[in-house]
Parts: sequence; C-alpha cells; structure tokens
Amino acid sequence: MQKLLIANRGEIAVRVIRAARSLGLKTVQVHSSADADMLAVRLADEAVEIGPPHAAKSYLNAEAILEAARRTGADAIHPGYGFLSENAAFADRVAEAGLTFIGPNGDIIRLMGDKAAARQQAAKADVPTVPGSNGIVADMDDAARLAAEIGYPVMIKAAAGGGGRGIRIAENEERFRGHATQASTEAKAAFGDGGIYIEKVIARARHVEVQIMGDGTDAVHYWDRECSLQRRRQKVWEEGPSAALGDARREALCSSAVDLARSVSYKGAGTVEYLYDDESGEFYFIEMNTRIQVEHPVTEMITGVDLVAEMIRIAQGGKVRPGLSPRNGHAIEVRLNAEDPANDFMPFPGVVGRLEIPEMADVRFDHMLYEGYAIPPFYDSLLGKLVVRGDDRADALARMRTALAKLKIEGLATTKPLFEALLDAPDVQSNSVHTRWLESWLESHDLSKGRPVE
Ligand code: ADP
Ligand code: ADP
Ligand code: MG
Repeated sequence: MQKLLIANRGEIAVRVIRAARSLGLKTVQVHSSADADMLAVRLADEAVEIGPPHAAKSYLNAEAILEAARRTGADAIHPGYGFLSENAAFADRVAEAGLTFIGPNGDIIRLMGDKAAARQQAAKADVPTVPGSNGIVADMDDAARLAAEIGYPVMIKAAAGGGGRGIRIAENEERFRGHATQASTEAKAAFGDGGIYIEKVIARARHVEVQIMGDGTDAVHYWDRECSLQRRRQKVWEEGPSAALGDARREALCSSAVDLARSVSYKGAGTVEYLYDDESGEFYFIEMNTRIQVEHPVTEMITGVDLVAEMIRIAQGGKVRPGLSPRNGHAIEVRLNAEDPANDFMPFPGVVGRLEIPEMADVRFDHMLYEGYAIPPFYDSLLGKLVVRGDDRADALARMRTALAKLKIEGLATTKPLFEALLDAPDVQSNSVHTRWLESWLESHDLSKGRPVE
C-alpha cells in the first residue's frame, strides 16, 4: 500500500490523513464542489473533485470515487464514518477494482451492518440482546402480537438505520401499527431498505460500547466507552472507561464483544454497542458499527494506541496485537457542533473567525477548522472534538473545564456553552445519567443566557 484515498470529509478526513502520513503513505482527498476549501484538501498530497455538494452525487458516488482512485493511482480507500463506510456493495466494488478497503469485507458488513441480522448473530454468539423480534418483521399481525408480549412501549427500528435516525417508539398497539408502517416507508426512502424490527424499550439505561479490532482470525478489545449523554439519540459527550462499570461487569462486557467479533471472523476496527442497566447489572447488545467511530479518540487517549493506523495496518494483512491492552486514566470527549444551543441547536454555518486551540498535555482537538474557513451548509454540523485525559474521572472533568475555557472559535455559534453548563451539573459530576437524561435536563435549563456566538 502506497497511496490512500480518503472517501470522506470534515474532521475524520483530517484524522485519516494524519494516520496515513505517520505510516509513510501518500494521500488523495476526494471532495465535493462545496468542499474545495476544506482543511483535508489542503493537507492531502492530492485532491480530486468528485461531484456537486449533494452527498448522493459526491461522497456517496461510488463510481466517481473509484474513478478518482484509478486516475491518481491510489491503491487503498479509507471510508471514514457515515457516507459509504458501512455500505457492503461499496466494499465489494473496491475489492473488485483490486484496491484495499480499510474495513471489513462486504460479507461481514452485510451481516453486522444490518442491525436486525446483527441481533441474530449476537444471539447465536450468546451475547445478550434487547428482547424483541427475531430479525426483521414481515407480518404486521405477528409483529403486533410480539409487541404486546414484550410489553409497551416498544421501539421500532430500521435495520439499515444509523446516526440516531430510523427509530420510533410506540406506546400502545393502536400506535404501533401506524408507526411501524410509517417507519418502514421512511426507512425505504432514507436508506433504500424498508426492513424494520422491534425491541423492548430499556428505560433509564446507559449507552456503553466496546472498541474491538479483528484480523479475520483473532479479535481483541480496547476497553469500553460510555456515551449516555445524547440528544435525539445522537451522542454529544463520550468518555471512557465507563465509571458505571465495576471490574467484573467490564470484563464480561468486553469479552462478549470479543466473542461476537470472533464468531464472524471480524476484520478491521469495530464497535459493539450495548445498553447497560446499572440497577440490575444486565447489559444488552443493540448494534455493531463496522467502522471507525466518531468517539474513537477517547480510547486512543487511555490506551495510547492509534486506532486509525491500526486499522490500516490490519487491512494490509497485519495481525491484532495479542493480550490485553494497557489502559491509563480516564478520557472525555465533547462534540463541538456548529449549532446554536440557545436556539434549539439550530445549525449555524458561517465563517470561522479567530481560532485558539488549547496547547496542553493530555488535551487533543481533532477538527476541520482554520481562520476564514466558510463552513458549507450541506453536511453534518460536527466541527471538531475536544478530548482530554486525566488520572481519574474527576481529573478529566477538571482538565476539560480548563481546555474548554482555552478553546476559542469565534464567528460561529457552537455547542461549547452546552458543555460548560454540563460540567456544572451535579448529575454529570457524579455520572448519575442515562440515555434520556440530557433531553430532560435541557427542558429545565435555559442555555439562551450564555453567549453562544463568541
Ligand atoms: P458514532 O456511532 O461513530 O458515534 P454517529 O452515530 O454519530 O457515530 O454517526 C457518525 C456519522 O455517520 C454521522 O454523521 C451520522 O449521521 C452518520 N451515519 C451513521 N450511520 C448512518 C447511516 N446508516 N446512514 C447515513 N448516515 C449515517
Ligand atoms: P443508531 O444505529 O442510530 O446508532 P442504536 O440502535 O445504536 O441506533 O440506538 C441509538 C440510541 O437510541 C441508543 O444509544 C439509545 O440511547 C437509544 N436506544 C436504542 N435502542 C434502545 C432500546 N431498546 N431502549 C431504549 N433506548 C434505546
Ligand atoms: Mg448506535
């Protein structure tokens, strides 16, 4: 492998370029016409425009991406997260073109990237799953019977969903039929696949996930992350290791993720996501993401491992590092989005003014910014991720407070005031949270008093 094409944009494209460079690889950055000025284009060795702003015609345009690889002589493609990263047909096409896809092969993505199929695979590997349907629901009468058996409220999920989209809750049977039909129609339109499945709603649970890495023969884990602070089922704050888990539960959770990865001869980086009920100590598999995740730096900060470099090494035929990864301290990541928390998180594209990035030990800012950069309005609002490591959770919280105070992104509204407020919240300080906690906290906290536009 000599030249890596990055089929993504934003902060993750920058992150992949850095890993590629550390491995001595040349880089090709593809971009839409709206992204000609993005940081990754400036950093890469070569850049190729692949289409208009609309992602369907650029970042999701497999033909244009493969053509860019042919033209530049790239021999590998990193898909980042989102876009084509969990698209099995794309992984197949990359391989058929004789290139290396940095991720699992199409068959593994088909099995684990389909959320309903992955549940069945988890059950086969003796990993506890949320009570629900066995695979996708084909018949509405059967589904309604099962929902009644599980007990309302039930969750209706799109098998192809992701990024918090394609999920609905039905409170009773009457609602269930309407919601399920609508969910299927919407999933067909959004993901090209109308398959839905149902799950019991696990109330007041935490979101805990395990980072794994496989080489097709063996698999290992790099410990857990907790991502319970969510808005609209999207993570906004992640940390690791989860302070809610004792040694025994952590051990059980991490080994179940490795068991699942081994059961499918997993190859590449992956994340096994669970809901964890800390009253009963039970955990339930919800899905597997067959790609690098947004919050991977949390794990990198506590293990010292470069997960992106590691996934590239494995795609080249490298083996996973045997044994248990060492782990040191506690890390926290917050997602700086170009959104105005004082105005219901309205997206706030604009021009980046003065930028000050904290230079401190154990602090990292993975981002896509430079002064004068005009953020295009067409894509995800993630600007960057501020990540800190401390000796323990209290130390990490303190360091985050200092780092946030030093981080200045002028000219834009960002989610920074949300995190400043959260650092003062007693429930956050004591980690007494669950996946619905943030939404109910936001109902009683007026963030409009902050000064979101710096
Ligand atoms: P993570 O699981 O890494 O925390 P998110 O769930 O926030 O990541 O998703 C990362 C990015 O990928 C987001 O931009 C999200 O909108 C996008 N994404 C994830 N899954 C899908 C999907 N199935 N279809 C479209 N976009 C997706
Ligand atoms: P996505 O593919 O969009 O990431 P997930 O299945 O991972 O969807 O779920 C996203 C979030 O929705 C979870 O982190 C959790 O907050 C919530 N959630 C998912 N399934 C359940 C469930 N069965 N009960 C309660 N909350 C759930
Ligand atoms: Mg998820």
